[in-house]
Amino acid sequence: MEKRPFVTKEQIAEIVKTYPTPFHIYDEKGIRENAKAVKEAFSWNPGFREYFAVKATPNPYIIDIMREFGCGFDCSSLTELMLARAMGAGEGEIMFSSNDTPAKEYEFADRIGAIINLDDITHIDFLEQTLGRLPETISCRYNPGGLFKMSNGIMDNPGDAKYGFTTEQLFEGFRMLKQKGVKHFGIHAFLASNTVTNEYYPMLAKILFEQAVKLQNETGAHIAFINLSGGVGIPYRPDQEPNDIRVIGEGVRKVYEEVLVPAGMGNVAIYTEMGRFMTGPYGALVTTAIHEKHTHKEYIGVDACAVNLMRPAMYGAYHHITVLGKENAPCDRKYDVTGSLCENNDKFALDRMLPEIEIGDYLVIHDTGAHGFAMGYNYNGKLKSAELLLKENGEVKLIRRAETPQDYFRTFDGLDFYGKLDFNI
Ligand SMILES: *Cc1c(COP(=O)(O)O)cnc(C)c1O
Repeated sequence: MEKRPFVTKEQIAEIVKTYPTPFHIYDEKGIRENAKAVKEAFSWNPGFREYFAVKATPNPYIIDIMREFGCGFDCSSLTELMLARAMGAGEGEIMFSSNDTPAKEYEFADRIGAIINLDDITHIDFLEQTLGRLPETISCRYNPGGLFKMSNGIMDNPGDAKYGFTTEQLFEGFRMLKQKGVKHFGIHAFLASNTVTNEYYPMLAKILFEQAVKLQNETGAHIAFINLSGGVGIPYRPDQEPNDIRVIGEGVRKVYEEVLVPAGMGNVAIYTEMGRFMTGPYGALVTTAIHEKHTHKEYIGVDACAVNLMRPAMYGAYHHITVLGKENAPCDRKYDVTGSLCENNDKFALDRMLPEIEIGDYLVIHDTGAHGFAMGYNYNGKLKSAELLLKENGEVKLIRRAETPQDYFRTFDGLDFYGKLDFNI
């Protein structure tokens, strides 16, 4: 499918008068339509809730949009819990799916009424010691090990993933928890990442539903919810067919009726924790071409770098690029599109066929709405960009300002050094 940006050259030319590049911009309309589709796709399940994975786009304005669609929030750290809480998420509306969790974070999660999703059997005692008791409702993360295979091949390698309880530990853990007085249980698993196929959730659901029936039969635990977690992907590449959330929801419903309903478990709530699917396609990194370089290869240097979008450097991930105003020009040039870090992996694209790029052209790097800005860092003393929201009425709202050198040096405040900095820039 052809990938078109949700902004035009004219819009960006106007926006940069107020907010210079680079910045991430999010498409409110796209986010809303998608959130609505997710809600509808699972509306057959009365207890359904999407716990938006905050780590994908930890911005209160994005969180606020998700709230409108009844989403809860999946958090993995103290600051994510703080964010979700401050946005009004109440009892049961926060899922705390962390791992290697510090005691303080369990305490905070419990205090704000988050559902704790344990990553490991040893955390049963750790949590009990930390809180002095166990919560009434608890979830356990399951990892069956091995390879996760589907009809189109190996999807991922849970056997090599650090997360979750083994099958044996899951049964033992449920027995322990029940003995210790836990009343309601959840099961969670994240077995494959960025799956671009409508089969993933239904297949995962089958695995979890079958275990849930066994767990309920063998341990007597009351299973209140099954959490399919994240992993529903997006088509980063133009040749990929997007997932259809309606087909996915319907696929999960079928398995629910085949496995859970006959076992008398027709009131189990289905939860999801999608991040990428919720916001990924509805964000873009906008950057300006500031240099060209002709050496052993043809380079275009832009004013964004890997600190603004780490996925290409970190995973070799593909992000589609559109040169604004040249959407219909022939892609007859081969470029490496680079940032300015002193790291040779700081390249947004390698050997990419693009239209001829001139200095000053705006490049839209697609699909940065999830795990984009959020993965940012400050290597080379680079500063994080602003985040903008393109509202449905066409207005642009600043939803996070760009970092300044003051922010960068803030952690030296109170030390003599801070006073020696020249901020007159
Ligand atoms: C990252 C993560 C998610 C969201 O994953 P996506 O691929 O963005 O959907 C959900 N749950 C947990 C526990 C995660 O770590």
